[in-house]
Order: sequence, then structure tokens, then C-alpha cells
Amino acid sequence: MHNVLRTVNGLDNINTFDLSNAVLIKRNNNYYINITAYKNKLNTETNQILSFDLGIKNQLTLSSGLQLKYSIEKTKKEKRIQRILSKKVKGSNNYRKLKVKLNKEHDKTKNRRTDTRNKIVHYLTSNYNIIITQNDSISGWQRIFGKRIESTDIGGIIEALKHKASTLILLYRFIPTTKECSKCHNKYDIKLNERIYKCSKCGLISDRDYNSTLNDIYYGTKTHKFKKLKVPVEYREFKPDRDNASTLKGFNVSPYVSASFVSETGSLNVLT
Ligand SMILES: [Zn+2]
Repeated sequence: MHNVLRTVNGLDNINTFDLSNAVLIKRNNNYYINITAYKNKLNTETNQILSFDLGIKNQLTLSSGLQLKYSIEKTKKEKRIQRILSKKVKGSNNYRKLKVKLNKEHDKTKNRRTDTRNKIVHYLTSNYNIIITQNDSISGWQRIFGKRIESTDIGGIIEALKHKASTLILLYRFIPTTKECSKCHNKYDIKLNERIYKCSKCGLISDRDYNSTLNDIYYGTKTHKFKKLKVPVEYREFKPDRDNASTLKGFNVSPYVSASFVSETGSLNVLT
């Protein structure tokens, strides 16, 4: 091994789990430890239902009222190496050496994105056991928004939840959760740049993404899958957790993520 392994980040996330297996992996001259660990399932009798909305502006809006923003771009070094590499003769020694360097830098960025995604997924699955979200077409977004999606790996969040959430309820992606008022279920064609949902029928004013998460819960709790869980009615009411310090407890998710609470009026109180 070239470098002494000094610290392993993220171990505190699994210190309450049963460790099962660890594998040392070498990729592009970097070393990784892949750890398999088990945790007990959460108690399904409690109020641990969450929905979230994925977005371009705010990457995740949770029905708890928490909003997460992040974007992990290519490093300047990676861009610089890419530029130099494009001028080298393909197959030459210099080209090959630079290519190795580029792969290494590329891996670093990729690891930061994967790590951030894993930490968010860990936060969701360790605090909520019923997770509802819309099965958005991330590949469709990628065509429209390109790099802005690539830098967040939000597509990977749903994929990871498929394996890690106790119960994941995926809603049909054409349910108009953005257009619908979460209070009176009236609909209007909200434009992409309108950040605040304003219902002309009942007067609801809400952050647009937050309004969507409440609709996710509305539709999610109507599904056959949810009904089979037999969650007591008293646990089906959802309020923002802003007074609940536990929402942010353990939320040292990642230095790349900024977390804030959404307010009904759509303005944000930045916490971190
Ligand atoms: Zn309304």
C-alpha cells in the first residue's frame, strides 16, 4: 500500500450495527474498504413515515420540512488535466500517464458524490421506515439538465432506497403532485420557475416542493402497499418537524450538503 491509511470517514454511522464483512478494494491506485453491516429494523408502530421530492433547485425536500441542497462538481484539477489530455497524442506515454491521473481525480469526485448519496440514504432509512416518493424519470431530467443532475447523483438515491428502505412506496411518476394543492386538491399549471404554490381556491401558500411531498403522502397512503402495513390512523398525520431537534440530530450528513427548513410561505431559514 502506498499511503498509510490514517482515518476512515463515516465509521461513526455504523457503530451501532453488527459488522459482518469487510473487503479491501483497489481501484485506480486507490484503496477502499467495503463494509457489510446489519441493523435492526425500525419499529413500524411509530410515526416514521416520510416522503421526499427530488428537484433541480433543491435536491431533496422532505415532508419533515427539511430541505437539502448540494452539488459536487468536477475539481479544477480534473478539468485542467482533461484540457491538457485533449492536446496529447492518444496512446503516447504522456497520454497514458495523464489518463491515470485523470481517472484518479475522477474517482475522487465520484466518491464524494457516492459518499454524500450514501449518507443521505442512511439518514432517511435510519430515521424513517416508510418512505414515499415519486418514481421520477431522472434519465429524462438528465437530458434536459445534464451536468446539474450529474453533480448530485440524485438518481442513485431512489436506487439505493430500493435496497435499503424498510418500506419504499414509489408513486407513478405522472401523478401531478406538483400541480395539485395538498390541502384542497384543486389543480393548476404551476410554472417551472414558480417556487411558491399559491392555491386560488383555498388560499394555501406553500413552498412548491414541500407541497409536492404532502401530495406524495396523500397518494402514498392510498396505495395497496401502504394499506397492507396497517399503520394506525393516529400516526398518519404529518407536520413539519421544525421544533423537533431530533430531525437534525445526527444530521452531520456531509460537508457538501446544506440543510435548511422550509416554511409555509416558502422562505427558508438557513440552519447550516
Ligand atoms: Zn387549495
